[in-house]
Amino acid sequence: MKFVDNIINKIDKKLERFDPLWQAENGKGGQRSRYKDKTGVAKYREWRGVKDTFYDYAAWLNNIKSMGIMVAKAPVRTVKGFLEYRWMGSYLGTFMFIDRLFEGYRGEELRIAHMNMHAIVQNLTGVIAKVMNNDERFGGGPLSDTIIPYDEVLPALFMKGFKELTPIPLQTLPEFIICDIDQHIEPYYIDVAESYGLAADVCSRCAAETGVAIDDAFPKFGKAFVTTNMPCNASEATSMFQRRRVNLPDFPVTLAMQHNEPGAHPYSVQVLKDVIKFIEDEYGVKYDWKELFKYAKEINEQNKIELEKWDLFKTEYSPLSGISESLYRLYAWASANGSDPYFTKNDRKVIKRMYDCYERKYKPFGGKTRHRAFLWGPSAVYYTDFPTWVQNCWGINIVLNMDSTMGHNMINTEDPEEAIKDLALFSEKATMRHHAVGGFDNVNAVWDYAKRFNCDMVLFNDNVACKGMNGVHAIMEEQARELGFHFIFIEHDLEDSRTVSRQDMRKCVNDYMSIVLGEKPLDPTLVEFDDSLAY
Ligand code: SF4
Repeated sequence: MKFVDNIINKIDKKLERFDPLWQAENGKGGQRSRYKDKTGVAKYREWRGVKDTFYDYAAWLNNIKSMGIMVAKAPVRTVKGFLEYRWMGSYLGTFMFIDRLFEGYRGEELRIAHMNMHAIVQNLTGVIAKVMNNDERFGGGPLSDTIIPYDEVLPALFMKGFKELTPIPLQTLPEFIICDIDQHIEPYYIDVAESYGLAADVCSRCAAETGVAIDDAFPKFGKAFVTTNMPCNASEATSMFQRRRVNLPDFPVTLAMQHNEPGAHPYSVQVLKDVIKFIEDEYGVKYDWKELFKYAKEINEQNKIELEKWDLFKTEYSPLSGISESLYRLYAWASANGSDPYFTKNDRKVIKRMYDCYERKYKPFGGKTRHRAFLWGPSAVYYTDFPTWVQNCWGINIVLNMDSTMGHNMINTEDPEEAIKDLALFSEKATMRHHAVGGFDNVNAVWDYAKRFNCDMVLFNDNVACKGMNGVHAIMEEQARELGFHFIFIEHDLEDSRTVSRQDMRKCVNDYMSIVLGEKPLDPTLVEFDDSLAY
């Protein structure tokens, strides 16, 4: 074994000049040198040394395998999907997207990142195959009548109590996930909504969903539709537009806005009871608490492990951070939400590796981290591969993102009356509602998280069209100053990269790091580049 290691070390030494990290350290290029101008097209794969390059390549093949299985499950329907739905084509950019996400990753951080990403890929490809095989536009399928479409920001766990039904988040494929992968897809749907008369200054996430509805680009299935007021007033509006186009009997799950107020919980509990009754009536099925408890146990274990990870995040020895943490948790919680045991198994393996790294005092990213940041950022941080860029360019490690702090209360798995109270609390703390809506202490939680995870920096995404958050600008700046955090507002227009480009977002950080802190970048090729044509 030692003999093989010696040979590998010799090869690594010989080829180190092709490694972008070595190039940046030695003033001979860097991560961006591999790319064709303006595009996300790399001229060659990243050389990471023998072991890591082959690990990365094997992980890439493993993801291709999942995509192959998806096509094998629905070959004709997949082709029809590409012809029918504009958003289907964007999924072809997934592999390029994953490559970008893990640039500069080596050793343990690379392995854990791929474990997490494969969990997403295997689940998502399964959902796409299921959707294609049952879409009524293509003639329907065995599950068309038993699928229950629901709003993507509504945690679906409570619906798992319907043993005979298959809950599918309706917006996930055309909007929620694909906006993270392809910066060019949602502007089309935003334009559709605006050409229909929707004002141009609304939140682009809600505009994009509305555009998908008007474009009749949602898959078709099910006998009823579950909508929601989550997370905010803009989402209420898009739900109203969608219910007209989807044209199925619908039930709006209007969870309490003031969700930190205990007096509001009985209301949310009642809403959950009412939607369960609605689904029972529409589909002629009975809710089964034993079935629900089975999936609640999955999410409870995932949440328990997540909280253990948080303890390790407080140290400098966590190989899990940035995009591999945030995107995984966002998908595992918001989309899979207890329905896929693969995520529990993956979490068990990841936490084991993390403890091992802690014991070995393993420092990720070659120990080059200079700052630890709590990130308060939604979709725009994914299509920009922002956490990866900010580590590679400036040595800022995103310890945790707001998307990872969603509902982590445990669900009672024995008593239905207690379980539904826990489910209400869990559902209220979902994507964006938990961080931006329902009282100032939700927004203020950012400081507690930053302190708890030993961060010296807070990066705060500034969605130019999020009306609620626009109101707290000056207060956040004042608080950051008082509390002594480095604080950067990063402007973006969520899913519309035409308003604020990726480079404009990066410039917010570049200016602060170079002008205010007077620091030099780790990789100068990453400071200013044009990737406006990339996925
Ligand atoms: S970004 Fe703001 S406006 Fe848009 S959905 Fe989230 S909370 Fe609502």
